[in-house]
Amino acid sequence: MGFIPPKSHMAVLLKDFYKPLVIEHIPTIEPKGESVLVKTIATGICHSDIHAWRGDYRPAGLPKKLPIVLSHEIVGTVVACGDGVPKPLLNRKVLVYPWQYEEEDEFTLAGLTQLGRKRRRLGLDVDGGLQEYVYVGHYRFLVDVEGLDDVPALAPLACAGLTTYRAIKKLINYVGPDDYVAIVGLGGLGSYAVQWVKTVLPYVNMIGVDVREEAIEFASKLARIDCIVNPSKVNPIDEVLRLTKGRGVRAVVDLVASPKVVATYINVLDTKGVYVLVGHMGEEGVTIPRPRVIRNELTIVGSYTGSLSEQHEVVNLARRGKINYSAVVTARYRLDEVNEAFKSIEEGRTLGRQVVVM
Ligand SMILES: [Zn+2]
Repeated sequence: MGFIPPKSHMAVLLKDFYKPLVIEHIPTIEPKGESVLVKTIATGICHSDIHAWRGDYRPAGLPKKLPIVLSHEIVGTVVACGDGVPKPLLNRKVLVYPWQYEEEDEFTLAGLTQLGRKRRRLGLDVDGGLQEYVYVGHYRFLVDVEGLDDVPALAPLACAGLTTYRAIKKLINYVGPDDYVAIVGLGGLGSYAVQWVKTVLPYVNMIGVDVREEAIEFASKLARIDCIVNPSKVNPIDEVLRLTKGRGVRAVVDLVASPKVVATYINVLDTKGVYVLVGHMGEEGVTIPRPRVIRNELTIVGSYTGSLSEQHEVVNLARRGKINYSAVVTARYRLDEVNEAFKSIEEGRTLGRQVVVM
C-alpha cells in the first residue's frame, strides 16, 4: 500500500491583510493525472510575501484569492502522484518551481515559463508553501534535489536564488573582462547576487552598494566584493565615478528599485550601460532621466524571477558547490512562529533569507 493523502492538513492562511496569519486545517487535494502532492520540508519567506500580507499588491489584483496560503519557496518530498506521473518521482526530494502556468503559449513554449500568459504562481495565484502538503498541478515543475546537503536551505533558490541568477546572466552580453558592475542592495537577494557574479562573471569588478554595514559585512563573507559603497557615508555617484576613473559602470543590477534608488544609480552608468531592474518594493513607477538615456544609449531592462530551465541550472550549480546556499539562511522558524517571522522580516531585522521548517 502506498501513501494515502489525509483528508485535511495544517495550513497558514492569509485571511485579512496585515492581520495575524491563522493556522487552520484545509482540505488536502488528491493528485490526479499529471499532478502531485508534495509534503513540505521547508518553505522560505520572501519580501514579496510580506508585501502580499500587507496588501501592497492589491493594485495589481494580487493575491488572486483570499484566504490564500503564502510562500513560494518550497522544498519537499513527493508523497502522492496522479496516474500520468513517472513512477520514479515518488518519494524524491524536490524543489518546487513556483512560477507556474496553466496552459502553454508562445512564451512558455519558448522556454520563458515565468512569463506565461495564464500564470498559476504559488502563493500569489494559488496556495503556496506554508502548509503541510502542497498540491502541484504538473510534475514538470519539480526539480530533483536528492543528495544535496541542508535541504531546508535550498528553498529560497526557488525565488531569491533564481531571480538573481537570471538578472546576473542578463549581463553576459553587456559586460566584458575588467568592466565594473554595481550590485545595489546586499540584503536577501544581494546575498545570492554577489555569489552569482563570481560564478557567472568572474572577470568583472564588483561594486557592492548598501546603507547597512551589517548587510555589507554579511555579503562580503559570501563572496569577495571588490569595492564597497555605503551611501549613508559617501555621495554614491561621486564615489562610483571615482572608483571607475570617471567612466561609470557598465551595468547596475538594482535589487531595491525604489524610485529614489533608480533615480540615483542610473547616473552611475557609463555610455551604453545597462540598468537591470529586479527588486520591486511597492507598485509605484519611477522617473526616467530621458536625456541621459538617449544621449548615452542606455538600456533599461526588467528581470522577473527565472525560467524553469534556469531553475534546473541553479540547482545544478548548487550541486556542484558553485553557490553557498546554506550560509544565506540566517533563521529557521517553526510553523507556529510564522507571525513572528513575518514581523521580523517586515521590520528589516534580518540578514540573508529565512525559512520555515516543518
Ligand atoms: Zn519571492
